[in-house]
Amino acid sequence: MCVGCRRRAEVGGLLRVTAVDGAVVPDPRRRLPGRGAWLHPVPECLDRAERRSAFPRAFRVRGPLDTARVRAHIGTVNGARETPEPDIPGSKVDPS
Ligand SMILES: [Zn+2]
Repeated sequence: MCVGCRRRAEVGGLLRVTAVDGAVVPDPRRRLPGRGAWLHPVPECLDRAERRSAFPRAFRVRGPLDTARVRAHIGTVNGARETPEPDIPGSKVDPS
């Protein structure tokens, strides 16, 4: 089910998103660990999900969550479908 419009949809038509470090990140390959949520990859559903605080609820975290990366991903999906997904770094910790 899409967390934006709450309609059922084929999983293939939904984008998996998950929460990493207080941000909602797109997981188009469905590889990231942790609790996921599903969203239609369209700005309308992202807006609705944000307004309803659907992401903190879906991920069982205290909001707010930064959705900039999902928004950027959706822009990419709608604009240039052929663009490969950037890999999401597993850790932001700099060992130096
Ligand atoms: Zn939707």
